[in-house]
Amino acid sequence: MVSHPDDETFGCGGTLALHASKGAAVDIICLSCDPPERRPEIMGAAEELGVREPTVLENRSVVISPELIRRVSDTIVDLRPRVVVTHVPFDYHREHRAAYEVVKEAVEWAAHTTTYAEPWIVERLLLMEVNTLIPSPHVLVDVSGVMEMKRRATLRHASQLSKFAWGYYEAFNEKKAELRGVQGGCSFAEAFLEEPLPQSGPFYPVRSVGNLL
Ligand SMILES: [Zn+2]
Repeated sequence: MVSHPDDETFGCGGTLALHASKGAAVDIICLSCDPPERRPEIMGAAEELGVREPTVLENRSVVISPELIRRVSDTIVDLRPRVVVTHVPFDYHREHRAAYEVVKEAVEWAAHTTTYAEPWIVERLLLMEVNTLIPSPHVLVDVSGVMEMKRRATLRHASQLSKFAWGYYEAFNEKKAELRGVQGGCSFAEAFLEEPLPQSGPFYPVRSVGNLL
């Protein structure tokens, strides 16, 4: 669940391609698409990654609102994902930080029996790095086998790549994956933070009661 076209590829394109190649149902929800000309770019990138056609919400910008949170929680309840990926809360981009808040809250509401007749409890919320790097990742995913797919998907975001004729995004994505690969003991990897999900309401009957050993 990402703010803009390109975030899905730059942040976690390899991880999406890897899981799709293993038969997982992988969906991209893009919260904003402005200008609308970027829409074909994310569609093309999804094709390169081998994932399903993205859902693109045509918001002009991502702002935290009850309406957007409800749209996202409705989507979670519809798609019933075990894992949700979104932005880190310390991203330099205001709309990426807003997406984190919206998605985190939507994950909570999707679990509420008071909101939905058939609620859905997301198991894991992972936070990706786009341009702001994660200081100490919790999860590294080996994307060596699908790196070529990520490179091809990156090239589909032509409007963004053209902002820097010297190839900033291509180089940044390549070096970032290489760095994470060094940390993970493989050629190329993607890094994530694991966001603990609160279980403070009455909606988690199995997992909120247990013991520590
Ligand atoms: Zn973005």
